[in-house]
Amino acid sequence: MGKLFVGVDLGGTKIYTALADETGTILKEIIVGTEANKGPEQIVEKIKSSIRNVLEDINIDDIKAIGIGSPGPLDIKNGLIAEPANLPFKNYNIVKEIKDEFNVPVYLDNDANVATLAEFKFGAGVNTENMIYVTASTGVGGGAILNGKIYRGSTANALEVGHTTISTTGRRCGCGNRGCVEAMTSGTAIKKAAIEALESRVETSLREYENISAKEVFIEAEKGDKVANEILSEALSYLGAAISNYANIFDPDMIVIGGGITGGGKIVFDKINDEMKKRCLGTILNNCKIEKAKLEGQAGVLGAIALAMMETK
Ligand SMILES: [Zn+2]
Repeated sequence: MGKLFVGVDLGGTKIYTALADETGTILKEIIVGTEANKGPEQIVEKIKSSIRNVLEDINIDDIKAIGIGSPGPLDIKNGLIAEPANLPFKNYNIVKEIKDEFNVPVYLDNDANVATLAEFKFGAGVNTENMIYVTASTGVGGGAILNGKIYRGSTANALEVGHTTISTTGRRCGCGNRGCVEAMTSGTAIKKAAIEALESRVETSLREYENISAKEVFIEAEKGDKVANEILSEALSYLGAAISNYANIFDPDMIVIGGGITGGGKIVFDKINDEMKKRCLGTILNNCKIEKAKLEGQAGVLGAIALAMMETK
């Protein structure tokens, strides 16, 4: 039986495919544009040709399995991509399609779970047994490794950490609820808070920008702007409180934090650690490490490889 794996990171803008060995070392890789507007058949054709490309110099018998990470919602049991917001699929059987073409086992999971698997197997979480992954960018997502295995929940939607409530009266979330973690702490939330501040008469160096995003808020906070600091302080307190909740629920060895928000640097991790000290139970706090995600841009593809590996173990 083969010893190599193929991972496919299917995203709304690009498809990242790689061939790797058992240690997760990438032997060959290719990135192509998704061009989601061209329809599902074109995308599947691009996935197939990307896989053919990374297999060019090797025999298909050397491949043990193929893993695919895709935006959800998915029907993992049946191998379907249900209806993601940024891809034109509707209950599309991607697993069957790829399996029929290459005649090797094919596994599918959502992008948050594969990123979790990547950090567990190859990144910050190596040597942990219980690991929570939280990614905060424009949205907030996550995954959990419990007792060495990915935890998917009854409908494979577990760890929707971005839509746990952190303030019952807080800002409205994209999901319709109020005060979700995503609505209070994401890059989008920081941007909204900055726009609200600019709409008031408050004095702030954020006014110097024509377009404002979380990035500018971080820059101006670093320079000492009071308003920018208040915005970050509030958003990061909520993030720290949310992460403390996850620590108290799961009692993990490690919580790995990824996504654009970690680009904010020391202030982000200081704030999370402050909140953890205030809110976590002692034994949980003393055991649980907080680490920055290591893989980021490669988390999707390495996670798809980790998925193929762990499912065939
Ligand atoms: Zn929500």
